[in-house]
Amino acid sequence: MATPRIPPGINPRDKRSGDRRALPRPGRPGGAVWYVLGFLMLMALAQTWLLAPTGRQISYSEFKAAVRAGRVAEVTISEQTIRGTYKAEVNGTRNFNAARIEDPKLLEELDATGVRYTGEFVSRWLPEVIGWVIPILLLLALWSFFFRRMGSAEGGVMSFARSKHRVFAEDDVKVSFADVAGVDEAEQELKEIVEFLKNPKKYTALGGRIPKGVLLVGPPGTGKTLLARAVAGEAKVPFFSLSGSEFVEMFVGVGAARVRDLFSQAEQKAPCIIFIDELDALGRARVQSPMGSHEEREQTLNQLLAEMDGFDSRKAIIIMAATNRPEVLDPALLRPGRFDRHVLVDKPDVKGREEVLQIHTRQVKLAPEVDLKIVAARTAGFAGADLANLVNEAALLAARNDKASVEMADFDEAIDRLIAGLEKKRVMSRKEREIVAYHESGHAIVATLIPGMDPVHKISIVQRGFGALGYTMQLPLEDRYLMQRRDLLNQLAVLLGGRTAEEIALGEISTGAQNDLQRATDIARSMVTEWGMSDALGAINYDGHKRSKFLDLAFGPERGAYAEETARLIDAEVKRIMTEAHAQARGILTEHRDDLERVTRRLLEKEVMEGEELRTMLGIAPAADPSADKTPLPPGLQ
Ligand code: ADP
Ligand code: MG
Ligand code: ZN
Repeated sequence: MATPRIPPGINPRDKRSGDRRALPRPGRPGGAVWYVLGFLMLMALAQTWLLAPTGRQISYSEFKAAVRAGRVAEVTISEQTIRGTYKAEVNGTRNFNAARIEDPKLLEELDATGVRYTGEFVSRWLPEVIGWVIPILLLLALWSFFFRRMGSAEGGVMSFARSKHRVFAEDDVKVSFADVAGVDEAEQELKEIVEFLKNPKKYTALGGRIPKGVLLVGPPGTGKTLLARAVAGEAKVPFFSLSGSEFVEMFVGVGAARVRDLFSQAEQKAPCIIFIDELDALGRARVQSPMGSHEEREQTLNQLLAEMDGFDSRKAIIIMAATNRPEVLDPALLRPGRFDRHVLVDKPDVKGREEVLQIHTRQVKLAPEVDLKIVAARTAGFAGADLANLVNEAALLAARNDKASVEMADFDEAIDRLIAGLEKKRVMSRKEREIVAYHESGHAIVATLIPGMDPVHKISIVQRGFGALGYTMQLPLEDRYLMQRRDLLNQLAVLLGGRTAEEIALGEISTGAQNDLQRATDIARSMVTEWGMSDALGAINYDGHKRSKFLDLAFGPERGAYAEETARLIDAEVKRIMTEAHAQARGILTEHRDDLERVTRRLLEKEVMEGEELRTMLGIAPAADPSADKTPLPPGLQ
């Protein structure tokens, strides 16, 4: 339905304004309005011209004198003017006019001198109408302009929103997995999606449900966007991409309209991929703030959720999104049926960095002495984008020095420059890397050498975007519902193993163990106060029902309902348990001091180490293969 922009009855043209196809340029605001305005202007001009007094302008006294002298032939008297003609030409014209003055005697005199006179009734409707209508029309034009800008979803207004869409479906994405390196695990997981997009019928024929939403999580510049495009390229499906920030516009409703439009366009092109970059810009947790919420973003987010729930999962549309801040996302986005599949895209290790460098030096003329292995070794902490940048920088440096090819010296200089720039992003120093390597080796060795522990799956000193400097990941062989006291004590030894290794190897401890200590202390305290695992205190639960966090906040930390004496005893028991665990870790690591050294060196060199290699180095029988290969997001020890 078209919006009535012109009050009816002014002008026959207004009928056309109801017909959108008649508009000269539908994208422009109020085309018909301008027509009407122009027409009215013409009318006004015409009237002025038609009604304009003709002949010579004379004064009223002059007019009266002429009447008395008998020189006037006839006059037309209107409300405000008197027009007339002389009997003979005066100053080259017979016509005259004069402003009318209140003069009751005039008619008598005209009768007396025999002048023919007529009255005139002038309709003044046109100027009046114009005086009213032009401002109204201007207001209407402005109103319709802004209304369109706001892109309300109804009818004609929608076309404006649509025309502004920057939904680009790339039909032929040229990126493939060969252009991405160093993120093998992510690649592996995404291969499944590619398979599905290539052949959706095969999967849905058996009634299977395909994941709808895949969330790529990782630090900036690790290739999330690149991977998403590679999936489209490999599967040869159209790629719709939009950035989360593009959804959030000034006007309420535009974002939601875009989401709707995006999905309806995608539905027509299925199988395809919808990619939402920087999901966090759009998908931040909705908050109830007293200052009022960000209404536009919420509407958009709600629309996205509705669309994700609404479309048929057999339609073969995969929604991918990327974020480097998963922690701020609205939990609703992560629920089953939405972005429930998470793929970790991490910074590359040495080997990965070498591969990334290889990809980006494909088009670069390298001097034969350039060894990308060495470049990779010197760029710990660089993400894929940093490496791409590095290659470019080195090439520019070489060109500036008029070299025929890019030499190792150029790479060195470029690395120095980039590291200076990255300093702000906290790339670990050599010393820090060593500390982290000892620390993680400590965890891993203790975990491996205590019998019955979950096998170590992976050790890494690749810095992550989420605060951890390194991690040791253990994978349980089976689900556990109960922990025995021995298991817990062993767990404590593993947690303290990192800090203990630093002590032993460097004679110094760092702040890196803070999280370990906190977790260990929590476990020890729970052993004493909740699980009755301390002989000194007996099988009593001292904590009662734990209060909710909210109440804790309101009333301050709770001191259990026990005597001061008991509190002291609890603290002493916690301390004893911790000390024993520390001693256990210390014993293991001192006995295996040389192993600690070897594992640390190897880790510094490789940055990431598989559990198998670790067990081989320690001369331990290989663990039963942990079948659970779906690694959850960073569960590892810090
Ligand atoms: P993100 O989206 O994770 O911030 P991008 O995908 O935008 O990172 O990466 C930017 C550029 O950096 C890419 O276009 C590519 O040239 C390079 N790059 C990043 N990661 C990789 C990688 N793993 N392999 C190859 N090139 C990469
Ligand atoms: Mg990106
Ligand atoms: Zn640790």
